[in-house]
Amino acid sequence: MAFQLAYIGLGSNLESPVEQVRQALNELATLPLSRLTAASSLYASRPVGPQDQPDFINAVVALETRLSPLALLDQLQALEQQHRRRRQRHWGPRTLDLDLLLYANDQINSSRLRVPHPQMTARAFVLLPLSEIAPSLNFLQQPLSAWLERVEKQGLERLPDA
Ligand code: AMP
Repeated sequence: MAFQLAYIGLGSNLESPVEQVRQALNELATLPLSRLTAASSLYASRPVGPQDQPDFINAVVALETRLSPLALLDQLQALEQQHRRRRQRHWGPRTLDLDLLLYANDQINSSRLRVPHPQMTARAFVLLPLSEIAPSLNFLQQPLSAWLERVEKQGLERLPDA
């Protein structure tokens, strides 16, 4: 199978969400049959609702992969599990979310997997990091810039590079 271009969204609001996302970026770079070709900056957004919890940290990566969409989802879920186990030992409840946003131009609607990710067009914390690494991307028959114009920025803040 040829390499296909996929985009993955990362999110965490752990007590150390920045570390959690940075570590996940490193882990995504080691996925089998895949190469990480771009990673956005990290972004912080204030939690919706109670403010006495950590900011959400988000990022988006581009991955060239020979894994099928479902095989890639398996890998992402395995990574989520690893973080969950680690956190249960040290820091309490998990919060690493990995979403398969786009896979080539595929439209997938199965019980386990929906691509493009159904919520991505409404989420500034997905669209803004995505525009950093793929400004001229098109999906669902629209340019990314058009999707971006339609969402509120939701208090999103780009973190300085480490
Ligand atoms: P959540 O933890 O809320 O992100 O939901 C995870 C569930 O969403 C899993 O059962 C996945 O099988 C399902 N799912 C459907 N589409 C996607 C997608 N594009 N990326 C990640 N998970 C997905």
